[in-house]
Amino acid sequence: MILSNPLIIANWKMGVPCSEARGWVDQFEKLTTPASRKHAVILPSFLSLSIVRQVDRALFLGSQDCSAFGEPAHTGSIPATDIKEIGCQYALIGHSERRRWNGETDELIHAKVIQATAAGLTPILCIGEDAQQRKIGKTKVALRSQLRHALQPLPEKLTALIVAYEPVWAIGGSAAASPTIITETHRWIRQILDRLPIKHSLIVYGGAVDEMTLPLICQLPNVNGVLVGRASWKAESFSRLVLAVHDKGSRLV
Ligand code: PEP
Repeated sequence: MILSNPLIIANWKMGVPCSEARGWVDQFEKLTTPASRKHAVILPSFLSLSIVRQVDRALFLGSQDCSAFGEPAHTGSIPATDIKEIGCQYALIGHSERRRWNGETDELIHAKVIQATAAGLTPILCIGEDAQQRKIGKTKVALRSQLRHALQPLPEKLTALIVAYEPVWAIGGSAAASPTIITETHRWIRQILDRLPIKHSLIVYGGAVDEMTLPLICQLPNVNGVLVGRASWKAESFSRLVLAVHDKGSRLV
């Protein structure tokens, strides 16, 4: 899959109810252009996925998670093959909220990367250090461990990967990581990814991105886009971010 660069990913979490999904897409279509929407990936809740797909067949879509298993005897799980079948191109894997609140382990996350890849989905792999790890100087240890466990052994068919660098202490907070932290960390992740036999890889930043911070963050080296949570829950604010990202993309050409 060819990945748009820069990319802006909307993580709806549980922030957009099913009853608002159709209206969200209608608004988004009104406020953006087809060219700008090529930079956007929407991650609705599982129950909203088919609603969004029905309203706009051209939108790039992803799930917020996928099952780590391929066999049917896993009641309540959503197989990666169904996510692909419903029209998604991406699956978000290893978000810190799932690691924290759902007890997701590195092994489980690796199994999800395998399932998503086998189904033909591009994994959006979230990694990030928590406040304590940063405080004691263990950021790179934490990130390296998350990357290694999620990607080793590397699934054979993994030709495209998006890594979302999301410092846990920035997610849901009032301030994004500083340009210095983002620049340094993305450069380091880029060096690691370039050593892996993955044809296409992007690194996006996530954590308290809003209209104020987006233009600066998108200009930083090795930043291929952003992942936004709260700022994607209203179509109006997400549309403004998409237009800003598209503007940045046009200037790169
Ligand atoms: C997220 O949860 O992935 C995220 C980036 O959230 P927020 O933008 O709300 O900090």
